[in-house]
Amino acid sequence: MCGIVAYIGEKNAYPILIKGLQRLEYRGYDSAGVALLNGKLNIYKRKGKVSDLIDFVGENNVDGTIGIGHTRWATHGKPDDVNAHPHISGNGRLTLIHNGIIENYALIKKALEVEGHTFNTETDTEVLVHLIEEIQTREKLTLEEAVRVALTKVVGAYAIVVLDKEDPNKLVAARKASPLVIGIDENGFLLASDATPIIEHTKKVVYLNDEEIATVRRDGTFEIRTIGANEIQTPFIHELEMQIERLEKGGYDYFMLKEIHEQPTTIQDAMRGRLNAVDSWIKLGGIEENLEKFKDAERLIIVACGTSWHSGLIAEYIFEDLARIPVEVEYASEFRYRNPVITDKDVVIAISQSGETADTLAALELAKQKGAMIYGIVNVVGSSIARLTDAGSYIHAGPEIGVASTKAFTGQVTLLTLMALSIAQKRGTISESYFKKLTQEMEQIPHKVARVLEKCNTQIEYISGEIKNANNALYLGRGYSFPVALEGALKLKEISYIHAEGYPAAEMKHGPIALIDENMPVIVIATNQSAYEKIVSNVQEVKARQGMVIAIVTEGEKEISKLADYSIEIPETEEPLTPLLSVIPMQLLSYHIAVMRGCNVDQPRNLAKSVTVE
Ligand code: GLU
Repeated sequence: MCGIVAYIGEKNAYPILIKGLQRLEYRGYDSAGVALLNGKLNIYKRKGKVSDLIDFVGENNVDGTIGIGHTRWATHGKPDDVNAHPHISGNGRLTLIHNGIIENYALIKKALEVEGHTFNTETDTEVLVHLIEEIQTREKLTLEEAVRVALTKVVGAYAIVVLDKEDPNKLVAARKASPLVIGIDENGFLLASDATPIIEHTKKVVYLNDEEIATVRRDGTFEIRTIGANEIQTPFIHELEMQIERLEKGGYDYFMLKEIHEQPTTIQDAMRGRLNAVDSWIKLGGIEENLEKFKDAERLIIVACGTSWHSGLIAEYIFEDLARIPVEVEYASEFRYRNPVITDKDVVIAISQSGETADTLAALELAKQKGAMIYGIVNVVGSSIARLTDAGSYIHAGPEIGVASTKAFTGQVTLLTLMALSIAQKRGTISESYFKKLTQEMEQIPHKVARVLEKCNTQIEYISGEIKNANNALYLGRGYSFPVALEGALKLKEISYIHAEGYPAAEMKHGPIALIDENMPVIVIATNQSAYEKIVSNVQEVKARQGMVIAIVTEGEKEISKLADYSIEIPETEEPLTPLLSVIPMQLLSYHIAVMRGCNVDQPRNLAKSVTVE
């Protein structure tokens, strides 16, 4: 994970780097550092957040119009001042920032030690900067050539930027499997892990491709080559559409809360131009252009990680229910390593907020090799998954900064629902009247989400106060509500550090029921129309063992509300669409509990938002 940012140009680099690191902090926040060159090289690095780095730098010299910065999520070596990036070569000439993992670092390190190199840190990154130095001095190469040759010897993932103390007029950057964007400003260049540090300086960007190396120069020229074949590439300059206001907290205490409240708008944005309930149609570019593939697909395989995997599970229910296509939902990390059966009759759908999730990306590459069509559902425009796939749909949720995903989840579910509906209609597996009913209901979802936010927040805050000291929590749901139970449990774990499990309600009897006592809050998502009586029985079973039941029910529901300790009412909708409403109380509950427990909601410990390492 890690965020990297670099600048060369006419302006002072330090404020640009710091602001950039703050924008990238969602990617990692266990330590941060900068290197600035102004005749002399000044490196400042510190364990902790970017704010700790700012305090540490204090009044020290931060002059320089060239510099590199890093906010870390440690993979190799504990998070401390020494292991923080930037890392420096043995002769002190090269400084480097890195996002990714050098998998063969131990072998390279041994070989370099034989050559007399000594290492000060436990990181894989320090090995890489020593390797570049070794090649540069031994073979008397230019910096870009030394970096290129070094990278041909490296196995793993990287986005790097290298600064040469003896050449203040250029930066060299490269990527493989970790993202890197180059911003082209009128009087300089910015390089960063994503476009958020760049947007306030320029809208012109180039997304570096895998196995490419770039040199950016103070005179405004730049050049991109392939690492292996050393061929010059013609860069494609994109125009960014991101709005700067969407990167700010907008009066909310936390990004997560802001993002929860944005959902009526973001769900609307995900549907804009794609759904017309009056004339009863759904149009998704990626689907229309590949209609035959989808219509004839023998199987849909959904690959994802974390919250996106939960969206995939909801899609499994909807696709099978409405479009009658068999669906498999896979953890990308398992799928890619277990020699899966994939044929050219399969459509593989990847779901990822960032579009950079390393395992999902690798799973897609595998599926592509085996001849399957690959489709992406991502949020970040221009991300690696968006560029790798044959087709796809953006969820248009805007930047999601809170590490715990909220609006990206509902955006993904919205998109997958539209896809399932559209394919179901084209395959003739859904009646025209039910299609119409569902599109009309879809159109109402943003208003209904707004109603949940308005009506339920105070009650959920109160309930949060009642259960905030619990050590464990159980989330139960059946059918469409089962993935919501998983997502609710994940949200609670992520940001409040309370152990929580999501279970299919009927499975409770096969194990978790043993945990239930008066100290165990059991959150039951009970908005089911089908199997309603079954979920009533499950609630009875919990109550019979003195469990505390918090039920999410449909407005006006009586039976479960009578049994439950608390019942949170949400508006009625068609059953396949209920996850879009029932997940909102899950998000609010975990948010309030985390705040009451004094947790850092936006930057939970050990987590980072964009998981670009395996
Ligand atoms: N492997 C590097 C380190 O541990 C970079 C980590 C990352 O990108 O997450 O410092």
